Amino acid sequence: MTDKNITENQEEKKSLNFIEQIVEEDLKSGKHKEIITRFPPEPNGYLHIGHAKSIILNFGLSETFHGKTNLRFDDTNPVKEDVEYVDSILEDVQWLGYKWHGDVHYASDYFEQLYEWAVKLIKDGYAYVDDQSIEEISASRGTPTQAGKESPFRNRSAEENIDLFERMRKGEFKDGEKVLRAKIDMSSPNMHMRDPIMYRIKHSEHHRTADKWCIYPMYDFTHGQSDYIEGITHSICTLEFENHRPLYDWFLDHIYEEGRTRPRQIEFARLNLSYTVMSKRKLAELVEKKLVSGWDDPRMPTISGLRRRGYTPEALQLFAEKVGVAKRENIIDVGLLEYSIKEHLNRTAQRVMTVLDPLKVTITNYPKDKEEFLSAINNPEDESMGEREIPFSRTLYIEKEDFREEANRKFFRLKLGGEVRLRYAYFIKCNEVVKDENGNIIELLCTYDPLSKGGKSPDGRKVKGTLHWVSAKHALNVEVKLYDRLFSDESPDGHKEKDFTEFINPDSLTVTENCKAEPFLKTAKVGNRFQFERKGYFCVDKDSSKDKIIFNRTVPLRDSWAKKNF
Ligand code: ATP
Ligand code: MG
Repeated sequence: MTDKNITENQEEKKSLNFIEQIVEEDLKSGKHKEIITRFPPEPNGYLHIGHAKSIILNFGLSETFHGKTNLRFDDTNPVKEDVEYVDSILEDVQWLGYKWHGDVHYASDYFEQLYEWAVKLIKDGYAYVDDQSIEEISASRGTPTQAGKESPFRNRSAEENIDLFERMRKGEFKDGEKVLRAKIDMSSPNMHMRDPIMYRIKHSEHHRTADKWCIYPMYDFTHGQSDYIEGITHSICTLEFENHRPLYDWFLDHIYEEGRTRPRQIEFARLNLSYTVMSKRKLAELVEKKLVSGWDDPRMPTISGLRRRGYTPEALQLFAEKVGVAKRENIIDVGLLEYSIKEHLNRTAQRVMTVLDPLKVTITNYPKDKEEFLSAINNPEDESMGEREIPFSRTLYIEKEDFREEANRKFFRLKLGGEVRLRYAYFIKCNEVVKDENGNIIELLCTYDPLSKGGKSPDGRKVKGTLHWVSAKHALNVEVKLYDRLFSDESPDGHKEKDFTEFINPDSLTVTENCKAEPFLKTAKVGNRFQFERKGYFCVDKDSSKDKIIFNRTVPLRDSWAKKNF
């Protein structure tokens, strides 16, 4: 090993996060020969960037330590779940670039086993059927500082409990008439230990088990045991489950069989992003109230929304890496997400020129019927992407905002009497402004310097500005959607007195039709990503048709080269 390798390896070690350290330790000590992690979504909504973080963490661990990662749907709530969500989750995980181990798992596949364990708990005196209503049960739970009240049904005999539980399963009772509760401790300082509900009656069809069951296990009676069934070594979850850990341990203690893998739960801080709401319930509300066009609206923090917006899996991985794995709640600046996609697209995106708000320019000394093709670099960061030809002719478009009749010395773009470079083309000078009857500028009359071909100065004279442009007769009409943040407040769901929907930014979407693109874009396909020079990164939207290409702006670009002189 070279010195360089050794230092690199040491650096790698140093940067292991606390979960990786635990895993490394467990492998070293021989506690596990191989690690198994899992990603366990509830199929009650589309995945968001927070889930992406969890996916990358779990699959990343098994990649790093040569283990396995399961994908399991924790599908215990038939009312809120749907196959549409299952399908979208499968698509998103694969799009992120991960392959789960073996078949997809479902907690609903374990319903029979969970039922048997519930019966065992009843027989051992650790669970009972309660006839109280859900309201009565929550009213008697007490408060964190005050003990709860024991249920009058708490001391039923095991025989009676078994009989009632079996009849619950057979469908003899209505929804809410009875529940099965764990018999733990109504005065525990941990509210989750105060005889939590294990099963409730729901006469609803489940998207996988159909009408086989009318009692369903609670998430807390399912999640930990499902990990146990699958031999998960490290159950990674977010901090809010820290308080549930003693309960999961309690359930496992009563069913654990010697020699089997006992999952270790490790909590990390969930990802929160500024200017964003992240909970599925709130995202569902945005969809239901039609405040966005759907789960994959490009303004949504969902994986499908980000994908439609133009985000790449690599950008999300880079983002997750930069965010790191924290033990304490924090809010990440959404700017870091934008940085991550710019970083990736800068290296990979094809450059093109597109004028979003066109102003006609006539080059009066350029022959009327002439056209020529100038070569342009496809990506200055990656020579292997080569060059392309762009047409130039007498009538062009530039951005309206790139011209001012009068401007101070700091305005480096085109002004009356001033000279600029047209990227890859020529120096042009503006001699005259044409206006309509209302005084609006509708056309510029310019002359070009034929000796400045390729945008190179013929005699050492300098121009400060470089503008993008498109030849009018070759231009492609495209539609462009520009996005701003969906919320105008940094923490839209952090206000007690106001609902998060009140902070929706009314200007979060601007649709611009009749943008002028260079003909190269004719063959652009849905999902293709480009840099429109000086305007940002754009991605072809799925609503595009043969007649109209629609672009979503992924993220704007800082105007980095207009002031440069080359
Ligand atoms: P939400 O609270 O946003 O509605 P959830 O936690 O109910 O989401 P699940 O389907 O239960 O969503 O989540 C699946 C996995 O993703 C869990 O392991 C959960 O801890 C993790 N996860 C969910 N949200 C985040 C987040 N913001 N950051 C990191 N991990 C998350
Ligand atoms: Mg959850």
